[in-house]
Amino acid sequence: MLPFPFPGPFDYRVPEGLVPVPGDIVLVPLNSREEVGVVWDAPGDDKPVPEHRLRSIIAVIDTPPMREDIRRLIDWIAAYTLSPPGEVMRMALRVPRQEPGPTMGWRRDASTDEDGQPGKIRLTDARRRVLSRLAAGEPRTTAELVKEAEVSAAVIRGMADAGLLTATPLPAATAFRPPDPDHPGPSLSADQASAAATLREAVASRTFSVTLLDGVTGSGKTEVYLEAIAQAVREGRQALVLLPEIALSSQWLSRFERRFGAAPAVWHSDLTSRVRRVTWRAVADGKAPVVVGARSALFLPFPDLGCVVVDEEHETAFKQEEGTVYHARDMAVVRARFCAAPAILVSATPSLETVANVEAGRYGHLHLPTRHGGAVMPQIEAIDLREDAPERGHFLAPRLIAAIRDTIGRGEQAMLFLNRRGYAPLTLCRRCGHRMQCPNCTAWLVEHRARRELRCHHCGHTVPIPEKCPACEAVNSLAAVGPGVERITEEAGKLFPDARRLVMASDTMPGPHAAAEAARAIEAREVDLIIGTQIVAKGWHFPHLTLVGVVDADLGLAGGDLRAAERTVQLLHQVAGRAGRAEAPGLVLLQTFSPEHPVMQALVLGDLEAFMASEAAIRRPGHWPPYGRLAALIVSADTAGAADVLARDLGQTAPHAEGVTVLGPAPAPLAILRGRHRRRLLLKTRRDIAVQPILREWLGRVSVARGGRVDVDVDPVSFL
Ligand code: ADP
Ligand code: ZN
Repeated sequence: MLPFPFPGPFDYRVPEGLVPVPGDIVLVPLNSREEVGVVWDAPGDDKPVPEHRLRSIIAVIDTPPMREDIRRLIDWIAAYTLSPPGEVMRMALRVPRQEPGPTMGWRRDASTDEDGQPGKIRLTDARRRVLSRLAAGEPRTTAELVKEAEVSAAVIRGMADAGLLTATPLPAATAFRPPDPDHPGPSLSADQASAAATLREAVASRTFSVTLLDGVTGSGKTEVYLEAIAQAVREGRQALVLLPEIALSSQWLSRFERRFGAAPAVWHSDLTSRVRRVTWRAVADGKAPVVVGARSALFLPFPDLGCVVVDEEHETAFKQEEGTVYHARDMAVVRARFCAAPAILVSATPSLETVANVEAGRYGHLHLPTRHGGAVMPQIEAIDLREDAPERGHFLAPRLIAAIRDTIGRGEQAMLFLNRRGYAPLTLCRRCGHRMQCPNCTAWLVEHRARRELRCHHCGHTVPIPEKCPACEAVNSLAAVGPGVERITEEAGKLFPDARRLVMASDTMPGPHAAAEAARAIEAREVDLIIGTQIVAKGWHFPHLTLVGVVDADLGLAGGDLRAAERTVQLLHQVAGRAGRAEAPGLVLLQTFSPEHPVMQALVLGDLEAFMASEAAIRRPGHWPPYGRLAALIVSADTAGAADVLARDLGQTAPHAEGVTVLGPAPAPLAILRGRHRRRLLLKTRRDIAVQPILREWLGRVSVARGGRVDVDVDPVSFL
């Protein structure tokens, strides 16, 4: 199997002297190149390639083979998602090539303190950054320092020449300190203890099972599933925890360390290649007992996986939309099945998919009913923007402003949530009505005032903010329409000039260090008012935060896709859950134009179960997921005409059968994306009918002209 989008593995001749077995990593000729591949299986019964056309394996690479369970997982994902298996395999192959890699790194010279040697050596900001990266003691390679301290390699060389840095051998394989399952952890409440006991038994039973662990935000679910992990470690086995956004998990990591007296291994796409190699190897050798990671950690070569945890299982971030389109939560369940281990899905607001699996008896269910330590759930109230309107050109209602003032006045913290980056989502000419649009996408350009640019959030296209309208050339006629966090920050700055403000958005807080620093500053009460995008909704625990204001609670409902209401409830409930996590009670204010909407009612009444039941009642009759299956076909082409032709061909050859419906073709909401014209079709089947064979046959009936593409998205989450 080669890591390319071919339909399947290729045949090669085994030369004299080589004895490759399935799983071995080999070097093979492909056209005029040499490529790394994996021996997939013994040859099947299909027609053998004639002897004279066979080419020979060049070498077996001296590296651990790809495990059987990983190969079966890859086959399974490829079949389920209709992806070429080589493309899926690529995700598992990103590391094992054991290039020797650098063996030397840098540490601070013993005589160097943070300020260099006073009077002797000039310390530029760049040099200071390098020294501070090395403060923690672990030596780093030049490449790592270049990346982490954002300096050039010349800066490092200069520092070495100046005697600020000393070369030092890198540890051959950073040993992961083993987590101690019997390290004294918190004593669990009765509810926690009984849930933990059930999970420990599931781990000890060494059989596949899936359990939903739910309970309100702050009910102590994390402490409970850490006990399942402790059990796996106690048995000398491994555990995998998937988190939706590992960069925002500094608090989670310190929690883990407090419980186990050691840090877990971390896996995500931002690791340096050395750390990746070392971690991969430690996992393969069973020396990394616990790995916490992003989606891609699913493909790590655990020899003895004892449990798989998916925290915040409802998060759409688990769906990978680029390359192989797969849902990491669902694949984690498959992974657990292949290694006969329990999967634990954790959320305060579980997805309807998971709830339906619980109701059907396929998944077990553990529930924590109350917040830990007597903290109460926050009071949630709607502010009707039609009655309590913000001042003209402003976005915060008088009631919300008053509540923020009170909260800060009491020495507590407040948070404003708006799920939109930048200053304003639309720029409009007041004279001619021209709207600033992306030339490559069906999307408005979002103003980022601080950076003086307009930016497309789909393709990244940016232009400087124009001085005059590009259409009518009027000067000073462009107006910002609607708010983004930047604009809310500006408004808050005028209203609360003395409040210490902190903005948390993915573009202002790139990377784990910035997020960890923000969390630290909030915990240390160095901040009065936090203003953020969905980053702030994550599992943060800020004990002094007692007020959350949702600037635009209606925002997520506009898209109108299948899960718009469900997702809005989940997101807003998560944001609301940041308030009042310690003694002082919390208050959440939702600014909305439709307080009577079922989503707002569910949040205000705190009755998520009733809401999910009504969602279920809406979806069940039409066989919408999870009571039926969906697959999307996304047609794209260079021109609108070509996209229409291909979409029409697919429409005309669409399958007809009992329990099978095809919707579309229709222009995608993002009708143009990165210059490609897009159309969508949706295949919907009853739950007892698999979509894959239908899709395979259907796609086999149409020929795709050059420049055209059909992308398949099984179980779509996004409908754009
Ligand atoms: P959830 O994951 O359900 O949102 P957490 O596990 O984050 O809840 O728990 C909320 C807070 O309560 C955390 O600060 C956690 O450390 C604390 N906590 C939970 N259970 C216990 C316990 N048994 N003893 C002490 N502190 C606990
Ligand atoms: Zn664009």
